[in-house]
Amino acid sequence: MEERSVAGWTVRCDPAAGRRAARARPPAADVCGCDACRNYAAQRDQALDPTRRAELEALGIDPGRESDLCHLGRDGDGLHRYCLRFEFVGAVLAAPPEGDAGSPWRAGPLAGNEEAGNGAWIECEVALEWRLDLGELP
Ligand SMILES: [Zn+2]
Repeated sequence: MEERSVAGWTVRCDPAAGRRAARARPPAADVCGCDACRNYAAQRDQALDPTRRAELEALGIDPGRESDLCHLGRDGDGLHRYCLRFEFVGAVLAAPPEGDAGSPWRAGPLAGNEEAGNGAWIECEVALEWRLDLGELP
């Protein structure tokens, strides 16, 4: 296990074990396949900025293989908001020093892993255009 910082959060992680776990499961959007998930999958590579992608990769997370996602609807700018979650092998050690205001990302232990400290998640919201050639969701 090594200690790292991601989006202001301090975590402990096992990147090699995390990469093995990520490879074993397909991206959540591909498993679901609904229009909202297909829209996300069409622009998955641009959903996160390169700095954040690199931080996630350092934890053993593959940014192209989200563990879960939820379409939250359209925002005032007409963009589609998604909550993206990535699981990793490790634990959350500390929140950003400024608290929730210090980072748009949230993190916590996977249910049942609180004491073992070998499974955690980190999530954020992203706003994306509608890219599919079919009716846009509300
Ligand atoms: Zn879906």
